[in-house]
Amino acid sequence: MIARLTAGSACAAAVLLAAAGAAFLAARPRAPAAERAAPAAPAAAPAPAPARELAPEDFVFDGPIGSQGARIEKTGPNQFLLTLGHAPNQPTWCNKVGFQIKRHAAGNSLRLQVAFEGGKQYYFNDYFQSWSYDGKDWKTIRWNKASKDAKVEDTLVFPTFAQDTVYVGQQVPLSYEDVAAMAAEWKKTPYVKVHAVGQSLGKRDLLRIEVADPASPHPPRSRWVHYVSNQHPGEHNSRWRMVGMIQWLLGEQGADCRRRTICHFVPFVSPDGPSNGWYRVGAQGVDMNRSYRAEGSDPAQAHEAYLLQKDLEALMKSEAPVTTVWAMHTWGGIVEPICQPGPEMDAKVGPWTDLRDAIVRNDRAASPLIKPLKLATGGGSNTWSGGPHKQFGVTAFLCEGGGSIYTKEENLRSGAILMKGLAEYYKGTKEDKRE
Ligand SMILES: [Zn+2]
Repeated sequence: MIARLTAGSACAAAVLLAAAGAAFLAARPRAPAAERAAPAAPAAAPAPAPARELAPEDFVFDGPIGSQGARIEKTGPNQFLLTLGHAPNQPTWCNKVGFQIKRHAAGNSLRLQVAFEGGKQYYFNDYFQSWSYDGKDWKTIRWNKASKDAKVEDTLVFPTFAQDTVYVGQQVPLSYEDVAAMAAEWKKTPYVKVHAVGQSLGKRDLLRIEVADPASPHPPRSRWVHYVSNQHPGEHNSRWRMVGMIQWLLGEQGADCRRRTICHFVPFVSPDGPSNGWYRVGAQGVDMNRSYRAEGSDPAQAHEAYLLQKDLEALMKSEAPVTTVWAMHTWGGIVEPICQPGPEMDAKVGPWTDLRDAIVRNDRAASPLIKPLKLATGGGSNTWSGGPHKQFGVTAFLCEGGGSIYTKEENLRSGAILMKGLAEYYKGTKEDKRE
């Protein structure tokens, strides 16, 4: 299916894989215009006659999904040039496209030419964009070119809007404020504790959401513990995957797993990212998946990384140390989990291939959402998968892909499948003898 062929640029760990991703991008076919327009079809209601054309002052770039340093100028009737800003201290790293039209959208269409003048280090158009009237129900919109040659200039053509307010972001957007609101709801159940590990430089809480059944008959020391975090703030789909894991755990199917495990979710290592359109960094401009320090946490690390690594180190010293660490990312294609096994694999639980098979078994849709788990062929010490693996010897997963999953529902389902697979593979408790 064409949708699955659209690759994003590689996101994280291996330079080799990054190069492969770029090659794939260069080779992919361009989608015909009819297909690009299809997913963005507006609601059936006829658009009212516009009160006036859109003007630059109707656009807001500092909302929950924003783009720091973006400049917009009018080039024609409902046509604009958006010039993107760059990441802090990284003049060649473009920010992503995120904004709100706060008024006057109804009855107007929008042709948005986007440009970045800082070079070709990263793409602003490597993933699809989404738009919405309410910031919740997102429709896909594709770039006109989305090709390697168009790294510095590309265009989004929106249909005629039916409402005055419009939200735009990349992948399926998920802001810090969205997650904080979800956490407040989850906290109402007996199974969720929301920890603020500290604050970002932008004064947002560094959230760690802990899911476990407090009425479990199994003492904490005997439970499997999973630690799942998102490093790159522009990789929204990977956060929806995490929300899917949490929702599965909190549902009826997750009841047994809630008793046998403790799960920690850090939805943002860079909570200031989404409102600024930062793809990979925090306010200091450090790539957040190059921010781990396998030798041990140190105040010289990026601010947020230091606080979160210290918190992980405290968990490792607690009565319920972490069994697996998951670093959640997005690159092109479907979800792509990659494993560095720890000591429990093939000892207290089955071989890693049992986990691979459990995930595949649960991925039942006609079009799979997750590639079969594979083993890593190396791993750095400054990433949030390789780093904890080196520091503690624990099982670590780099979970990539998902950049070609266009809906919130499918991203959520990919997370539910991973969590169910984990629940099935990590049978019983740590203290059970393997059968
Ligand atoms: Zn990433």
